Amino acid sequence: MITLDDFHRLTNELDEYDAQLLAVSKTQPIDQILHLYRFGQRIFGENRIEELLDKQGQLPQDIEWHFIGHIQSKKAAKLVGKVAMIHSLDRIKIANILHENAAKQSTIVNVLFQIKIAQEESKYGYPIDSLLQELEDGAYTPFKNLNICGVMGMATLTSDVRLIESEFQLLYKHFQILKDNYFSDSIAFREISMGMSQDYPIALRHGATIVRIGSTLFK
Ligand SMILES: *Cc1c(COP(=O)(O)O)cnc(C)c1O
Repeated sequence: MITLDDFHRLTNELDEYDAQLLAVSKTQPIDQILHLYRFGQRIFGENRIEELLDKQGQLPQDIEWHFIGHIQSKKAAKLVGKVAMIHSLDRIKIANILHENAAKQSTIVNVLFQIKIAQEESKYGYPIDSLLQELEDGAYTPFKNLNICGVMGMATLTSDVRLIESEFQLLYKHFQILKDNYFSDSIAFREISMGMSQDYPIALRHGATIVRIGSTLFK
């Protein structure tokens, strides 16, 4: 577990960049999460819906839960009304399900477009061309109950700093293109979720507003 001193060092570093810390608590037990909570951390992220709902029921109500995992269509509806933000919207089918359920509950869902930036084949995410085409076609216009807050991306798992850097630069570029062309009137569209334990310092230098850190906090 990270010490309070190291935690403060990390949050001070993030403050310098005006970036928020999303503590990725997947697979971590309740007592470890409470430990960070007592340090003052309030934003936690999970990648499995059942695990998120289970932990939410056992932990203080003022925790802000973010969902960062791949979304299966049969489970998407379960997220509505439960999470502060979904980072992993990567296809229109899921947008449609989230919107329908949010409308039914008269609520709004905050989402980020997860965009594919890594060269690795395994990573999920919207191919930027299909997203731009759907926006151009107005496919997102009916989704009044989705509040689109920005983008999320994952870099290739590699020690090649230049490759990671180029992928984060690419995500920043995609963010700007989306903002300029489709979200110029939106004050909500301002988040760039990128950077994990191994690569967050690079992400900060390239405009991350939210970093998603797990292993460094809990090891
Ligand atoms: C697990 C995970 C993280 C955190 O990774 P660490 O290397 O443990 O910091 C960030 N983002 C996503 C989407 C994850 O699944």
